[in-house]
Amino acid sequence: MEEIVERLNGVLQRIERACRQSNRDPETVRLLMATKTVDPDRIKIALQSGQRLIGENKIQEVKEKYDALKAVPHESHFIGHLQTNKIKDLLKYGVDCVQSVDRLKLAEKLQQRLTFEEKELDVLLQVNTSGEESKFGVSPEGALELAQKVAGMDRLHIKGLMTIGLFSEDKQKVRLCFQKLKAIRRQLIELNLPGVEMSELSMGMSGDLEIAIDEGATIVRVGTAIFGKRQYPDSYYWKENKK
Ligand SMILES: *Cc1c(COP(=O)(O)O)cnc(C)c1O
Repeated sequence: MEEIVERLNGVLQRIERACRQSNRDPETVRLLMATKTVDPDRIKIALQSGQRLIGENKIQEVKEKYDALKAVPHESHFIGHLQTNKIKDLLKYGVDCVQSVDRLKLAEKLQQRLTFEEKELDVLLQVNTSGEESKFGVSPEGALELAQKVAGMDRLHIKGLMTIGLFSEDKQKVRLCFQKLKAIRRQLIELNLPGVEMSELSMGMSGDLEIAIDEGATIVRVGTAIFGKRQYPDSYYWKENKK
């Protein structure tokens, strides 16, 4: 269990070092702990050591961990592929932000349910910057149109963009993904859509957070480097329902 705190400190040091090297204030980068497959006791240790932000990929896991975590102050983001039939549970179990809005249909269903429940929700638009089939996200070409449509939905507040970089040893290729996301943000800022903020860039994970920070990440999502290797391959989370 101490291991988690040690690893967590290691990750915080990496973030700080990366910020220093990129001339950024460490205060401008938030750590989101990606907690898929991690049991609540271990998540609690990380939260109690001073962290605040967690992200799950499946509503089922949000639900299962809800009771165990509700007494510990934290903020909960959803970072996985969201099926529309899970929206009710998403709202019931206190998710504060959905980082993975990637299609109009999903935004419409969220808007509909939020209207019914008289609630509002922060969202990020997930963009597929790597072009990989296995990854969810709106295409870079489709991002502006999606943003324009979601901007018209009064229950959804766009706070920025999210992406999963290419898994590659070639750092330049990984960097290109993050640059692509940044370029889309610039275009969206120029469009100046009413009610749309572009303050968040959620990018960078255990293997590439330094590059992401150098390219302007405001949220890095880290799992393995804190909690250790997962039991399931990531395709279990990322390819669900894809042919
Ligand atoms: C699992 C996951 C992460 C964290 O990945 P690690 O490589 O374990 O740090 C980040 N983002 C998303 C969307 C994830 O599913």
